[in-house]
Amino acid sequence: MRIAFIGLGNMGAPMARNLINAGHRLQVVDVNTGALEQLAAQGAQIAATPGQAAAENELVITMLPAARHVREVYFGESGVLAGIRAGTLAVDCSTIDPTTVREVAAAAAKAGVDLADAPVSGGTGGAAAGTLTFMVGGSAEAFAQLQPVLAQMGRNIVHCGEVGTGQIAKICNNLLLGISMIGVAEAMALGHALGIDTQVLAGIINSSTGRCWSSDTYNPWPGVIDTAPASRGYTGGFGAQLMLKDLGLATEAARQAQQPVVLGAVAQQLYQAMSLRGEGGLDFSAIINAYRRFE
Ligand code: NAD
Repeated sequence: MRIAFIGLGNMGAPMARNLINAGHRLQVVDVNTGALEQLAAQGAQIAATPGQAAAENELVITMLPAARHVREVYFGESGVLAGIRAGTLAVDCSTIDPTTVREVAAAAAKAGVDLADAPVSGGTGGAAAGTLTFMVGGSAEAFAQLQPVLAQMGRNIVHCGEVGTGQIAKICNNLLLGISMIGVAEAMALGHALGIDTQVLAGIINSSTGRCWSSDTYNPWPGVIDTAPASRGYTGGFGAQLMLKDLGLATEAARQAQQPVVLGAVAQQLYQAMSLRGEGGLDFSAIINAYRRFE
């Protein structure tokens, strides 16, 4: 398939690489020339603008940081919608708010383009290994066409419903994840302060009713889980800044829906304070530092 891939960052670059390895012909766009050159060295062609890439390919994939970048890439003067031909398929894999996705999809529909949202989970490791989960919001037809291509970058490809529902699934999951990590941090730090061995405590939690992913796979206490970021100085995981962004999306969506997110709002404040302390680049499980005594 001929694919335009726009946004070659920590996630986009390994995803694009997997598509090249699967035999697709890629045209790539990024504002970072270093990222473009790396993909070109792996066999991709460089397109001048998103509009040009959209015009010359059958599928457009975007993987951008936030809503404003997605708007710029689709609505800009030489953006995707300025060049795209009717009948082309488009999928935005960025994590953004459902409202923006629906706006972009409505504009795309006017140009005869079926656009789906497909945010991912699985992190940079999953992107490199091709084991991402894709949460797809879009028409049944778009899903049927996208499924085989997404399956070359991921393992779980789930149709969540109409356009925007992929983002809804993603932000609700990350709302829960942000909260559950704080819960585990609070319990582990309290146990330590009261004098129980943290390995013993984690073992009890992980075979009891407090068990959750934040505890049994990604425990924030150093050394409890060898493969967790906590055991390597909170590096190389899911940055607190990204968690903060996702909690912002959740609380804003909740505001629009007039829905309470009490714990989500508190969690957002805690990650905000973490960012202020200069720890936004650490894995989000370093939130436990807010509960630990450092002599
Ligand atoms: P990133 O910042 O590493 O990459 C974004 C890329 O987009 C960069 O290469 C940047 O130069 C490019 N870009 C920005 N504006 C552009 C424009 N106008 N035109 C062309 N290119 C442009 O971000 P990432 O870590 O790859 O994340 C991408 C998305 O995936 C985000 O929405 C993020 O929330 C989500 N996500 C990230 C992770 C993760 O672990 N990193 C996990 C799941 C989901």
